[in-house]
Amino acid sequence: ILIGMVLGVLVGRFFSLWVSEQTDTLINLGLFELSVKSFFIEGLFHIGGEIFVTSLKMLVVPLVFVSLVCGTCSLNDSAKIGRLGLKSVILYLLTTAIAITLALTIANFISPGEGAALTTDAEFEAATAPTFAEVIIGMFPSNPIQAMATGNMLQIIVFSILFGISMAMAGDAGKKLSLVFNDLNQVVLKMVTILMNLAPYGVFCLLAKLFAFLELSEVLKLGKYFFTLVAVLLIHAFVTYPILFKLLTGLNPVQFLTKMKATALFAFSTSSSNATMPVTLNTVTKKMGADNSIASFTVPLGATINMDGTAIMQGVATVFIAQVYAIDLSMADYLAVLLTATLASIGTAGVPGVGLIMLAMVFQQVGLPVEGIALILGVDRLLDMTRTAVNVTGDAMVTCAVAKSEKALDKDVFNSPSS
Ligand code: ASP
Repeated sequence: ILIGMVLGVLVGRFFSLWVSEQTDTLINLGLFELSVKSFFIEGLFHIGGEIFVTSLKMLVVPLVFVSLVCGTCSLNDSAKIGRLGLKSVILYLLTTAIAITLALTIANFISPGEGAALTTDAEFEAATAPTFAEVIIGMFPSNPIQAMATGNMLQIIVFSILFGISMAMAGDAGKKLSLVFNDLNQVVLKMVTILMNLAPYGVFCLLAKLFAFLELSEVLKLGKYFFTLVAVLLIHAFVTYPILFKLLTGLNPVQFLTKMKATALFAFSTSSSNATMPVTLNTVTKKMGADNSIASFTVPLGATINMDGTAIMQGVATVFIAQVYAIDLSMADYLAVLLTATLASIGTAGVPGVGLIMLAMVFQQVGLPVEGIALILGVDRLLDMTRTAVNVTGDAMVTCAVAKSEKALDKDVFNSPSS
C-alpha cells in the first residue's frame, strides 16, 4: 500500500508538472483522438480509484449491520451493552475535547493568521448545528431500510443493537438466526479481505489522479495555516494517542502505531472514515486482537461521532480566520467552539470534506465570517486526507482501550509481529 501511495503521488506529479497541453500527445484511435494525459488521469486512474472507493463503501452497511448484530447477540447482556456505550462515548468525547484544546492552544501560540493579507469574495453557505435533542432523536430510525439505504450510521447502529438484543432474547429462533448471521459475517469479512488485497492498486489510482490536479502552490500561500495544522495533527497522533493508549491499556503504543499504518494510509487516500471502516474493523480485530463484540460497536460509532483530526482543523481554522479578520475571541467563544465542534461531529458522517461544513456551523456560533472558509478551501483536500488518518487512529485507540477494560483484547494477537 505504501509503494502504491508513493508511486501514485509521483505519477500524479509527473502528469501535473511535465505533461502540459503542448507536450501531451494525441493518440489516434480511428474514431476519435485521445490525449495520453486524459487516457491515464481521467480514464484509467479515475475509473480505478472510483471503483475502489465505491467498493469499500459498498461493504460498510452490510458489515456494520451483520457484525454488530453478531456482536450484541453474543454479548447477551444489556447491562454490558449499556456500559460499553457509555465508556466509548465518554472516551470519544474526551479525545475530541483534548484535540480541540490542543489545537486552540498551539494555534494561539503560533498565530498563523496574524499579518496575513488575505481577501476573498467567494461565498460559503452555512448550515446550522443540530441541537442536542435533535441529535439524540435523530439516532432512532423510523424506517431501518431507509437508514441503510442512506447510510445513516447512528440509526443503523441503534437498529442493529436492538435487533441483536432481541435475537439473544428470542430463544431457539434467535439461536438459529445467530448461526445464519455468523455465517454471513464470515462471508462479508471475506469480501473485505479480497478488497484489501486490491488496495495497493486502488490507492495508487486515487493518489495519481488527485496529485495530477492538486495545486501545491496554494499550500505555500497558506503555509503558516497549513503547517500549524499538520503539526497539531502529528502531535495528536504521535504524542496524545500513545500516552492515552499506554495509560488506558498498559500495552506498547509503538506496536499500536505500527499496526495502524495501513489503515491510516487507507484513510489518507480515501479521505473518508466511513469508507475506511471495513479496514479499521479488520485491523482492530485481526491485528490488534480486540473482540468483535466490542469492535463492531466502537468502530462504526467512532467513524461517525469521533473526529479528532477534524476537531483540530476547526480549532486551528477558528484562530486563523479570527486573526485574518482581526476579531478577538473571548474564553466563552473558545468554549462555544469546543461545544459546537463536538456536537457537530456527532451529527455528521465521516465523508470527504464534511469538516468544512462543520466549520461553518462553528463560525456561525461564534460570529466569525463564514465566507472566511473560502480562504482555506484551496488547501483543504490535502488536510482532509491527513485529518481523516488521525480520525481513524482515534477510533482504533478507543476501541483497544474499551476492549482492554472489558477483558476482550487478546494480548498475544496484539503483540504478534505486525503484518
Ligand atoms: N473526511 C473526514 C473523515 O471522513 C471528515 C472531515 O474532516 O472532513 O473523517
